[in-house]
Amino acid sequence: MPAEDFAPIDTNWLESAGSLWTTPFADVPSERVIVDPIMLSHAAGVYKKSVEYFYGNPDEAVRMVCGACELYDITPVGHFLYADYWGADYGGELVTKAGAPPALKTRPIKTAEDVDAFRVLPPEELKDGPTFETHFKALDTVFNEYPQMFAPITQLGGVLEVATNWVSIDDVFMWMVTEPEVVDKLLTKAGDHMESACSCTAERYGANVMITGSVIASGDLLDREQIKRFGFDPVSKAIRKVLKAGAGPGVYLHLCGNHADDYDMWRTAPMSPFTVVQIGYDGKDIFPSAKHTEAFGDRAICLGCVDTKLVDRGTQMQVYEQAKSQVLAGKDSPSGYILGTSCECPTFAPPANVRAIVKAARDFGQYTKF
Ligand SMILES: [Zn+2]
Repeated sequence: MPAEDFAPIDTNWLESAGSLWTTPFADVPSERVIVDPIMLSHAAGVYKKSVEYFYGNPDEAVRMVCGACELYDITPVGHFLYADYWGADYGGELVTKAGAPPALKTRPIKTAEDVDAFRVLPPEELKDGPTFETHFKALDTVFNEYPQMFAPITQLGGVLEVATNWVSIDDVFMWMVTEPEVVDKLLTKAGDHMESACSCTAERYGANVMITGSVIASGDLLDREQIKRFGFDPVSKAIRKVLKAGAGPGVYLHLCGNHADDYDMWRTAPMSPFTVVQIGYDGKDIFPSAKHTEAFGDRAICLGCVDTKLVDRGTQMQVYEQAKSQVLAGKDSPSGYILGTSCECPTFAPPANVRAIVKAARDFGQYTKF
């Protein structure tokens, strides 16, 4: 589907959707809270294309994402990302799978001894690698064809996510117990890689938003002390490095999964004025926006969540009710509030459920305290 197959985006919609996004930084409040359900391969379904097609054609993928943004009336940003970034740049093999994003089949680091010898690529080498080739193809398409929907993002995840694209997750977990200092070393290298990658994006587009935070380092897999050592501390160090290198200023802290026991720790993470904090779950329940905005509302834009399991498998009414209670509790957060989902918008979620989140924001997302 080349560019000419896509109908133009309605400019009136774009203007009003764009003004919703600016709310946290504007003096005059917009009409209501904006919705950002992290639209990725779900957009392929809107155009009756497969997930493999989406990831195999990054330029067409972002056109579909931009079209889906208008269709659902959500944040007008042409995102393109997936989880297994960066392994291929260092010699890992990335393979495509039916119905799923690209995944690493082999990883470049095989033994603890390899960690010492592992060399992080400087920006001038990383920028020509397979990850940025794909990523820049997507971003350039948005930049050229949908300039008002362009917001350059560098996909990183936290340091553990970068590291597990280099070493198998089983080895990393084993080393946490048997040779924790090897993991420390690995995570420092992952932080150096974050600086290098964000510098590439900044060099090309002038500014960028780093997606970082903690996905593997969550309460379901690690205890608080481990999350501090293998998540919070090295991620904080890496954010400082990226900001110092002039490769920010956007910081998107994606605290995926259960963060009941460690969310408060992230209050002291380095944040720029352009920081979004998203927290998935409080134990098994969705993280309540009241608790979220209470802890972070003075420092960052809070991205409140609707449970992706509910969006995927619940009824439209269940999604609407949860979105309603989250937006009512979070909308007047002092640094701004976005209503979203606990992770990527589920690929095969019923469109009616995605729309139910927007419906709730329209019905209950008007600001009252601005
Ligand atoms: Zn996530």
